[in-house]
Amino acid sequence: MEEKSMETKRNLNPKLLKQIRRVEPYVPGEQPQQKVIKLNTNENPYPPSPNVARVLKEMDADRLRLYPDPSADVLTETLAAYHGVENDQIFVGVGSDDVLSMCFLTFFNAEKPILFPDITYSFYKVWAQLYRIPYECPKLDPDFRLVKEDYYRENGGVIFPNPNAPTAIYEELDFVEDVIAHNPDVIVIVDEAYIDFAGRSAAELIDRYDNLIVVRTFSKSRSMAGMRIGYAISNPALIGYLNDVKYSFNSYTMNQTALVCGVESVKDDAYFKESVEKIIETREWAKTELTKMGFEFPDSRANFIFATHPKKDAKQLFEELKQKQIYVRYWGSSRIEQYLRITIGTRAEMETLFAALRACLAAEN
Ligand SMILES: *Cc1c(COP(=O)(O)O)cnc(C)c1O
Repeated sequence: MEEKSMETKRNLNPKLLKQIRRVEPYVPGEQPQQKVIKLNTNENPYPPSPNVARVLKEMDADRLRLYPDPSADVLTETLAAYHGVENDQIFVGVGSDDVLSMCFLTFFNAEKPILFPDITYSFYKVWAQLYRIPYECPKLDPDFRLVKEDYYRENGGVIFPNPNAPTAIYEELDFVEDVIAHNPDVIVIVDEAYIDFAGRSAAELIDRYDNLIVVRTFSKSRSMAGMRIGYAISNPALIGYLNDVKYSFNSYTMNQTALVCGVESVKDDAYFKESVEKIIETREWAKTELTKMGFEFPDSRANFIFATHPKKDAKQLFEELKQKQIYVRYWGSSRIEQYLRITIGTRAEMETLFAALRACLAAEN
């Protein structure tokens, strides 16, 4: 219904239509307003550091009269210290989506296609289309693994998440390094949205490769999706070019509140590590429970599991869960139409999910 009214509203004269930059937008997971068990957008089930809550409470609204610091110094300095790099090696933005989008605009300008996997974060394709960047999508292998040799051919740039989304598969650092090393003349972006749940980061390689950008977010491991903070780590030259593009666009991307809250999150490392650890523990337990029910999934190193059941249709399962007020993510796109992506919630949320899954599976047989 909604789509139809949209279409009539967009009933433009074809010549006028030609003037417009048209794109097929990214479709985010649902954000239901009623109380549900929400395991569909990889949010963190735990609150951010209590220090974030404290500074929020202490915020002086009068401060909002003033523009925020355009260079976001307090946050870049805090992140630089945290990662052991110089201040000019960090670029911050409004969520990693903002950072990634700016990276596409800044770094992917060749005639040759950029490369990213056929099954990955679906925003990459949207930005490529929006900015008119040619792209090709090498297929993950039948086990959903990246085939690194596919990225050795001539290209205009490379981007992939590690761990990949929605598969949750983590590739070891030597694998990532091979891809970077084989592409010395183009920019390689490693999207590390889930790295805190996984293993070694490509940030270690920044000093050795001048073509590497590592992108991170506060939305998953730092429980701050609603605050919109993301950042890139790279060498000063590439960060400088990113800043030039940002300042040509909007100088004040980061609001005052986000800057202050971001700093508090990074400073409370003990709390951060503890909440990441809890999620990993729940994930490992969830793997054994799902296996007992007959689910199959690639080994997850993220805060979600990409699962299929050989005897139960994924779409049907998705609908049945939704009726029980449990939201997981389902795409129904090619090669993954039998898969659900389940975010790791609290142990209690997972218990409820598993009870519901058992009921769905029992009803079928
Ligand atoms: C969640 C996610 C992002 C975007 O996160 P932001 O909330 O915009 O920081 C980027 N890449 C991947 C792979 C993600 O899963």
